[in-house]
Amino acid sequence: MTPDAGAVLDALRVALGDRVDVSDPVREAARADKSGHAAAGLPLAVVHARSVADVQATLRIANETSTPVVTQGARTGLAGGANAGAGEIALSVREMDRIVEVRPDDLIAVVEPGILNADLNAALAPHGLWWAPDPASRAISTVGGNIATGAGGLLCAKYGVVRDAVLGLDVVLADGRLLSLGHRTVKGVTGLDLTSLFIGSEGTLGVIVGATLKLRRLTAGEVCTIAATFPTVRAAAGGSAAVTAAGLQPAIMELMDAASLAAVHALLHLPDPTPGAAQLTIQTDGAAARAEADQIAAILTAAGGTVALSHDPVEGERLLAIRRSMHPAMESLGTTLIEDVSVPRSALPAMFDEIARIERDYAMTIPTVAHAGDGNLHPNFVYEGSGEVPPEVWAAADELFRAALRLGGTLTGEHGVGVLKRRWLADELGDDQWRLQREIARVFDPKGILNPGKVFA
Ligand SMILES: Cc1cc2nc3c(=O)[nH]c(=O)nc-3n(C[C@H](O)[C@H](O)[C@H](O)COP(=O)(O)OP(=O)(O)OC[C@H]3O[C@@H](n4cnc5c(N)ncnc54)[C@H](O)[C@@H]3O)c2cc1C
Repeated sequence: MTPDAGAVLDALRVALGDRVDVSDPVREAARADKSGHAAAGLPLAVVHARSVADVQATLRIANETSTPVVTQGARTGLAGGANAGAGEIALSVREMDRIVEVRPDDLIAVVEPGILNADLNAALAPHGLWWAPDPASRAISTVGGNIATGAGGLLCAKYGVVRDAVLGLDVVLADGRLLSLGHRTVKGVTGLDLTSLFIGSEGTLGVIVGATLKLRRLTAGEVCTIAATFPTVRAAAGGSAAVTAAGLQPAIMELMDAASLAAVHALLHLPDPTPGAAQLTIQTDGAAARAEADQIAAILTAAGGTVALSHDPVEGERLLAIRRSMHPAMESLGTTLIEDVSVPRSALPAMFDEIARIERDYAMTIPTVAHAGDGNLHPNFVYEGSGEVPPEVWAAADELFRAALRLGGTLTGEHGVGVLKRRWLADELGDDQWRLQREIARVFDPKGILNPGKVFA
């Protein structure tokens, strides 16, 4: 340990006492999120902040000593953004998990960042309320992490992503100052929208220590589920694009290609799916659920799908469980790089053509699921061994990113840039915007101590 590191640790211990953890297993765990990538070396310490004052104390020490700080929620990220390595302080806000206020009359809640998304929604349900962002990781990821990554989920085509569900944020800046951004009102346009700037900022601008969330009322009503099988993934993508083009708004519209279906059916011990077939699973909800489901079924049948429609919520959940089992199914095949490109919804069929081309060119299978309602695809690259992503996988992923950009899409729909996509960021932003974004980050963090090496490096 260098003398500087010793001095940093001494200062942290004096200020934070038992919240400073230097045990090897805890520091080892802090090196990695769920991306399959780990930082090099062990962080100096993991600080388990319990209050805003703890976060401020940590950042004041980090700022004075120019020590890098990696903010961590639950470390379920898929871009390596929360990974803390040698010479860095891992600042966990997971224990800051209180619900400060729920206002059913104003449809807002004020929460600390470490509360799990599912725990928040369980607490809101008795008030007849919910917070709409629903990442598949909602049982294991924090609201602060959801905000810092700009998370999405199955329901977001209809009910919005994190960006649509946050009114204000309390943030601690790199030098320890506390700022209150945004508002509690439905409207509010005073000054620049710094709340939005923090959404998706991946720990590079400051630490989110509080959030004022925009809630929705839970509405009772029917849910209808449609499962439609198509002979090819292109046909399934065409079916989903036709639903969107018809102006219909299902709550959920998920697409699974043949390789994904085969893996999930094997995992769940279901009969083998038809070879080559792809599936759309769609749910409608609200007062018009039945009418919309009937219209969607007609559109999908016309598009060449074999359609089954259910009004039974238990059957609906059974069908969706197949989609929700994708992550464990991929884990059962090997180590997975889960990609996250997004394209305009009309370009979904063309994007699946590009994936088929990359599969041929690289002689690999790329099981792909898509949030077809919003054009966000998760192609999965599965490889052997638990080490770094092999070069041929990155080469194929590189083709995937370039194809998405050519089709008017983006590198990441919801997982963020982290370490894994930073080398492609300038390709999407262009040099001028990339430089401008870097300069903006420097205004918030002049010494470059907040999550260095992530996003802009
Ligand atoms: C099985 C599985 C399914 C998933 N499904 C989805 C999905 O459907 N949709 C989706 O969007 N993502 C999904 N993810 C990815 C992940 O769960 C999300 O990115 C989630 O928002 C991360 O939350 P977290 O608390 O784990 O954050 P972490 O992984 O701890 O951190 C993520 C990033 O946010 C920063 N950060 C965390 N907390 C703060 C804070 N308080 N202040 C400032 N910066 C902070 C970190 O520095 C890091 O850059 C999935 C992951 C898994 C493992």
